[in-house]
Amino acid sequence: MTESYDLGIVGAGPAGYTAAFEAIKCGKSVVLFEKDLIGGVCLNRGCIPTKTILHSAELFEEMKNSNILGIECTDLKVDLEKVMAHKDEVVAKLRKNLELALKNAGVVVVQEYADIIDAKKIQAGNKLYECSQVISAVGSAPFAPKSLNFDGKFILSSDDILNLKKLPKKVVIAGSGAIGIEWARIFSSFDVDVCIVEMADHILPIVDLEVSKRIERMFKMKKIKFYTSVSVEKVHENSSNGCDVTLSNGEIYNVDFVLMATGRKPLEQNRIEGVKYIGDISGEIQLAHFAIKQAVCEVSEIPYNKSLIPSVIYGTPEIAWAGLKEQDLIPGTYQKSIFLVSALGKSHCDNCIDGFVKILAQDGLVIGVHIISKEASALLQELIIAMQNKIPVEKIKQVCFAHPTYSEGIFECLCNLK
Ligand SMILES: Cc1cc2nc3c(=O)[nH]c(=O)nc-3n(C[C@H](O)[C@H](O)[C@H](O)COP(=O)(O)OP(=O)(O)OC[C@H]3O[C@@H](n4cnc5c(N)ncnc54)[C@H](O)[C@@H]3O)c2cc1C
Repeated sequence: MTESYDLGIVGAGPAGYTAAFEAIKCGKSVVLFEKDLIGGVCLNRGCIPTKTILHSAELFEEMKNSNILGIECTDLKVDLEKVMAHKDEVVAKLRKNLELALKNAGVVVVQEYADIIDAKKIQAGNKLYECSQVISAVGSAPFAPKSLNFDGKFILSSDDILNLKKLPKKVVIAGSGAIGIEWARIFSSFDVDVCIVEMADHILPIVDLEVSKRIERMFKMKKIKFYTSVSVEKVHENSSNGCDVTLSNGEIYNVDFVLMATGRKPLEQNRIEGVKYIGDISGEIQLAHFAIKQAVCEVSEIPYNKSLIPSVIYGTPEIAWAGLKEQDLIPGTYQKSIFLVSALGKSHCDNCIDGFVKILAQDGLVIGVHIISKEASALLQELIIAMQNKIPVEKIKQVCFAHPTYSEGIFECLCNLK
């Protein structure tokens, strides 16, 4: 049996479902295949569940320290079962909304494993689908070195950790990218003894060096342990308790488990000429909003600027950046300004004074923004709009920034560019 469509999409994560909506807007007929859960990693095992758990952790942390604000919280405790149940509810609600939106838009959703046969044919079950165009949006999977394969017991992936039944006492987190840092913040807020092990010579090796150093200082103050230039070598079950983790510096840590936050790799797929590969499978930037942007632009054939994709690490305070980092620039060719969040009235109102806004500029234009602050994710967007549209620093300074806000940090930082 054969069915025909204008567009066939394999994978219903952010890339796939966005491409489907966009194609429907353009008047195309669309069939979308999903072998697992609609919404992909982002909705079911990534952005949404982790940020929901993180919110519980941040609330707990805030309540532990709320006496200073005149709010007394006693007998505080974490009920992980409820934290996870709430996370599951949020995910289920959003997934239902998405399924409904796809149905209402007229996307034909086929909940089956699909094989792309060629640039015009997809096979799912015993049916063949003929499509004028085929998109692969099959995403990525957690990655760990061979010697440290996920076992679901002592070596956990970011998927496994979403099913924790009870809080661990001690954990090692291998890798300090976004996933590692966000889970370090979650565990630390829940009073779990955390140790991050990072191979690079700084934690958060993907960020501007000054941001990385500042986060290292914040972690020291919060007593979150970390090693740099060190890797996890071996993980062995300990007959009396948890597992022993051998580090490359010879130290051995006894912990409940290791969370391998060592990256993700695109699913293995034969590349077929004429098929478009979007989202994580494209092997470019592994972020949901990049997948979404790429999907819209590929379907509507409009260009997009890959150098201005925002990056955010959530938690308190947020870490957000876009554009160039200082270590990428030649000294003497740019202007730089750093403005401390503690100089803003709003940060004191919120008892959240840690962090800074750092702006890099060249020839009167912003070329890089690096923020550690409450609301950093929203602040960043203001300057991405300016960067994308090449709005000169002098023009941005003419804007009236509301008071008291963290946005004032952007204004003050721009005023201090030297
Ligand atoms: C813990 C974690 C936290 C994250 N946090 C953030 C964040 O805060 N912000 C952010 O921007 N990004 C975040 N990400 C990254 C984000 O989730 C991904 O970049 C995004 O999901 C990629 O979207 P995608 O559509 O390319 O692929 P996916 O979301 O991986 O979706 C691919 C879909 O294809 C399906 N599929 C695969 N093969 C087939 C087949 N043969 N037939 C049918 N279906 C198939 C899969 O089942 C899956 O549902 C996070 C990731 C993780 C793991």
